[in-house]
Amino acid sequence: MTSTKECIELENEYGAKNYNPLDVVISKGKGIWVEDVEGNRYMDFLASYSALNQGHNHPRLVKALQKQAEKLSLTSRAFRNDQLPYFEKELCELTGYEMMLPMNSGAEAVETALKAARKWGEKVKGVGKDKGEIIVCSGNFHGRTITIVSMSDEEQYRDGFGPFTPGFKIIEYNNVSALQDAINENTVAFMVEPIQGEGGVVVPDDGYMQKVEKVCRDNNVLLIADEIQSGLGRTGKMFACDHEHVKPDMITIGKALSGGMYPISAVVGSAEVLGVFNPGDHGSTYGGNPIASAVGRESLKVIVEDELCERSAELGEYFMAELEKIESPYVDFVRGKGLWIGVVLKQAARPFCKALMKKGILAKDTHGNVIRIAPPLVIEKEEIDQALTAIEEVLTDESFDKE
Ligand SMILES: *Cc1c(COP(=O)(O)O)cnc(C)c1O
Repeated sequence: MTSTKECIELENEYGAKNYNPLDVVISKGKGIWVEDVEGNRYMDFLASYSALNQGHNHPRLVKALQKQAEKLSLTSRAFRNDQLPYFEKELCELTGYEMMLPMNSGAEAVETALKAARKWGEKVKGVGKDKGEIIVCSGNFHGRTITIVSMSDEEQYRDGFGPFTPGFKIIEYNNVSALQDAINENTVAFMVEPIQGEGGVVVPDDGYMQKVEKVCRDNNVLLIADEIQSGLGRTGKMFACDHEHVKPDMITIGKALSGGMYPISAVVGSAEVLGVFNPGDHGSTYGGNPIASAVGRESLKVIVEDELCERSAELGEYFMAELEKIESPYVDFVRGKGLWIGVVLKQAARPFCKALMKKGILAKDTHGNVIRIAPPLVIEKEEIDQALTAIEEVLTDESFDKE
């Protein structure tokens, strides 16, 4: 039988060490539950960074994947396939945008949006050649390519990976006048997460997104919302921008676009912006392939038909209120939106995540001192209550060293 020890040893020997996972080796998943190779069951409170909003192995997604895999997997975009057109139409109709461009990973969707913004800047706005500037926020997380880490201010993401791509300006998050001040005649876009996920579930002030939308409009600067983690129901609305009725020029989408079944990402936007791409400007061998398109279509239907946005809003409010009631010497405060909650500690969160794992809850520390709570949106209230008991036990356990 495969053992935890053997899997860890193999990974230690053969795998590059770019992650530091908790020592649990998962072999099965269903809904919010996973099982490790020893047969222990856990609630998955990370949901693969919100890729699993629909839960592990959603039966409709398994079926969509199997059915399409048996028929046709890949055509490349050199030919057409009979799934992509419907995925394009359904994603645009659901999101209210005119066009979409399919890619595979979140980072590729971000790269695509950056390329579209730069080209729009030169060809439509009339910024000089190679002069376009894009503004981003401190504490951002947009992915791991060299260009994307070029716009990060997280030292570890950058250390050793230079030289970096020029053309980015970093301003303080949740600061509207900083955006106003940073814009000049070469600014083509402002890219922002409506709630910062990897930054520690950082929720900006009410009205922030509306105000930055206005500043962007007034200055003919594109607003790009990176909703790869915040989108598709996580915050209690289809997109986090919907809480403030904000309509960015482009939205990057990924993660839950396949419900964990397949790497799928996309950019949606106006025809004016995504229309800048001509054949040969940009592409991806697997982007928009028939399996991705079939799974993507079904994933969107599941979000709507299983009412995942509504569940996230209701259950998230309940979960957060109950978490706030826990009297813990370690907790500073709790923040979040929908089923996306950060328990901000006064000290490092990892020992608490390890203790939660022993009680059957897999959660991930983020930004050092934040326990991120982001279960699949199919979670039931009874399961939340069960989790709350375990979380309270851990957060009130006197045996943790205070820092
Ligand atoms: C996860 C994430 C990405 C990158 O997605 P990958 O699929 O890991 O490349 C980009 N932006 C945000 C906001 C994310 O949370």
